[in-house]
Amino acid sequence: MNQQDKGLSHRSALCDRLARQIETLRECESRYHRESGSVALLAVSKTKPVHDIQAALHCGQTRFGENYAQELDAKAEALADAAIEWHFIGPIQSNKTRIIAARADWAHSVDRLKTAARLSRQRPEGAAPLQVCIQVNIDAENTKSGVSLDQLPALCAEVVELPNLVLRGLMCIPRPSPDFDQNRRQFARLRKALESLNAQGYALDTLSMGMSGDFPAAIAEGATIVRIGTAIFGAR
Ligand SMILES: *Cc1c(COP(=O)(O)O)cnc(C)c1O
Repeated sequence: MNQQDKGLSHRSALCDRLARQIETLRECESRYHRESGSVALLAVSKTKPVHDIQAALHCGQTRFGENYAQELDAKAEALADAAIEWHFIGPIQSNKTRIIAARADWAHSVDRLKTAARLSRQRPEGAAPLQVCIQVNIDAENTKSGVSLDQLPALCAEVVELPNLVLRGLMCIPRPSPDFDQNRRQFARLRKALESLNAQGYALDTLSMGMSGDFPAAIAEGATIVRIGTAIFGAR
């Protein structure tokens, strides 16, 4: 195969995986009695080259997720003319908030008032508000990222006051497990936290949960955005 043929066959393999992933999402929606089309696919393109994003764009994918601010910066610059919705899903360091505020449409991983306030303050004038989720640490031993369930209501109350952010919902990354029921129990905790906030007067509509290894359980428990990398772009 010459270079061009290789490029084309890479693109069509990626399109096939993307189409299969979307088909599987629709099957899960139906299996778990979710409204058809209620689960959005976020294609997690971290560490993957710009031409993979272009290939996915070419087959109709428009939402992309990145974990590292510098990488988001470079890719958004390279793809400035494309109609992409960028989602920042990695840990938010204070010294990277300016990049995220300038480049992202969404940030899923807000877990401290300090960085949330910086994102709001640094959002460029004239830009739409940044759509945010608060990351919740639902199994404390897994990761240091995310606010505890105990501290969630207080952080929500503060974030909702920030002028250039719109609080949309909650995100979690549970400890990886091959056990469907175990995954479901973890995702149920995030769903219940969202329901409890909404019962207190919030109008949150987003549960960002589920990755390549556990998205069916997340959809069963109400995920509205699944974040899929490996199943679309291959191993990192
Ligand atoms: C990398 C990553 C994903 C995608 O994970 P896969 O297992 O490759 O689907 C989703 N969410 C977050 C926060 C990630 O860092």
